[in-house]
Amino acid sequence: MRITTNINDLNFKCSDVEDYKQGIIIGKKLIMTCMFGKNKNAVGLAHNQIKGNKNVYIVKSKNVFRTFINAKIVDASEDVIKHEEGCMSFPNKSNKVTRHTWITISHLIKDGYIQETFNGFEACIHQHEIDHLNGIDIHHKTEEDYNNE
Ligand SMILES: [Zn+2]
Repeated sequence: MRITTNINDLNFKCSDVEDYKQGIIIGKKLIMTCMFGKNKNAVGLAHNQIKGNKNVYIVKSKNVFRTFINAKIVDASEDVIKHEEGCMSFPNKSNKVTRHTWITISHLIKDGYIQETFNGFEACIHQHEIDHLNGIDIHHKTEEDYNNE
């Protein structure tokens, strides 16, 4: 699978999958995409980045990819950090974005929906990928946007 760099593939909201199994199949495709070439640098990837339309993304943590299905942010820190972020869909075009220092998400596992909290860099990756699935990329999500929310 190629990672798209076409904004028209990215700027729409993805829809939830109907069951866990469908999510895992998509997760495997995303993980495979990150196995080769320059994609090996990816720490996360969202389904619309490979021209999909489902609410599924992967995050690399401690060198292992996990799949997150139908994830939604249910709580977030008031504290934020501003930092420079890159994106596989915008090669060599990083941007300064504002992120919560921790977030709690609800997502679907085999046994149903659970909540999990992530901190620091990992929390930033989740916010980046969840943004993608809502049609938002690092060039939409600037400091100015945040202040206008
Ligand atoms: Zn990205």
